[in-house]
Amino acid sequence: MSFEISSNITEQSPKLGGFAGVDIPNYDFITNCMHCGLCLPTCPTYSLTGLERSSPRGRIRLIKSVADGELEMTQTFIDEMNFCLDCQACETACPAGVKYGALVEAARAQIFQKRVLPLKERLLKWIFLKNVLSSKWKLKLTAGLFRIYQQWGIESVIKKSGVLKIFSSKLNDLQALAPRIDTQYSDKIIPEILKPQGTAKYRVGFLSGCLMNVAFAGINKDTVDVLLHNGCEVITPREQECCGSLQAHSGDFETARRLARHNIEVFSKYELDAIVMNSAGCGAFMKEYGHYLNDDAMYAEKARILSTKIKDISEFLIGIEFRIPTTQFNKRVAYHDACHLAHAQKISTEPRILLAMIPGIDLVELPEASWCCGSAGIYNVVHYDDSMKLLERKMDNVKSTEAEIIVANNPGCLGQMQYGANKFDVDVEIIHFSTLLKRAYRLEN
Ligand code: SF4
Ligand code: SF4
Repeated sequence: MSFEISSNITEQSPKLGGFAGVDIPNYDFITNCMHCGLCLPTCPTYSLTGLERSSPRGRIRLIKSVADGELEMTQTFIDEMNFCLDCQACETACPAGVKYGALVEAARAQIFQKRVLPLKERLLKWIFLKNVLSSKWKLKLTAGLFRIYQQWGIESVIKKSGVLKIFSSKLNDLQALAPRIDTQYSDKIIPEILKPQGTAKYRVGFLSGCLMNVAFAGINKDTVDVLLHNGCEVITPREQECCGSLQAHSGDFETARRLARHNIEVFSKYELDAIVMNSAGCGAFMKEYGHYLNDDAMYAEKARILSTKIKDISEFLIGIEFRIPTTQFNKRVAYHDACHLAHAQKISTEPRILLAMIPGIDLVELPEASWCCGSAGIYNVVHYDDSMKLLERKMDNVKSTEAEIIVANNPGCLGQMQYGANKFDVDVEIIHFSTLLKRAYRLEN
């Protein structure tokens, strides 16, 4: 994904049709679209509705109409921008190289700035994205309360009582989608500095993330163990915060930039060969720090340097002297492409090559592997029904592989597909790429 938001247009012309203020969609990106429609068959939301306005081409047309002053930011406009998964499958398909992700995210920034979203949605975003996720201590406090709810039997009592259905028939389903909060967070179980056995060949930083820290601590530990096994000294700075991707994708660029500046300061203190990611969404966004802070005199250069160091775990391992597991791993495995890895970062062969090196593995291709599973940040919460249709399609494909294990490099996809395996009764284990490697290495926990 390339993300040059039209801040140049903003400076010279603070208004573009119905768009105004900062982060206006780049008009050149809009006019790059030649209306060929080659992106349409790759678009999950178009497949759901069959409506032109739910397609990439249709949304670009909507954005152009607002930019040309022919259309206001109507409810239809807002709904279509939010209905988009931002999966960027359309960018992969587009022969003209239209930067669709940058357009839809800038359109969402405009919606966010104009405060035209319904009050309930604005409140939810203000509480969870601007406050809870954007502050480590607030997230830990909230996660702690949620853990009490999940682990002290309150959740099952409420579930059995059916009381949630009084408020909404979906609340029970949404409750089941919520990640399980870990008893110990990853910043408790992973020391700030870890050295490998013998001489370290590489020095890497590790992003332990926001939700990853409190709800996927085991995956973080697996990733760090794999890095150590491959001769890396691993630094997981304590002061790091959420990367800002969820905030940016929902249009709150201000909070996203604040978090980006903070993380740049934190990671720039160390001399690092790379900063390793195990979450596709975080990696895709941190690779774009340079573009988001392009007009920030103090941070533009630092952001560009930091972005070049961001590597997905598979991307990093394939670029070093990868330690191939030596024992047999006799499992049938398929790989699911997370959208923000395959489409936004163009990483899809690297994990497959590494997996294929594992002795004994029966690696099979998942049909429609890069078709979105419907997780997409908080999409499965705000568009539950549509998300479930996409998930059902994904789980049908999973079933057809007869794989024992599905591997993915993104926590959102893992949670969504685990939920899908239960909901659609598919007997399969869904695990992170790092977890599979750690098992193949037979490393102790
Ligand atoms: S980002 Fe995904 S959902 Fe949105 S228009 Fe492109 S292909 Fe469709
Ligand atoms: S493939 Fe690209 S150029 Fe063609 S309609 Fe889609 S966005 Fe426009």
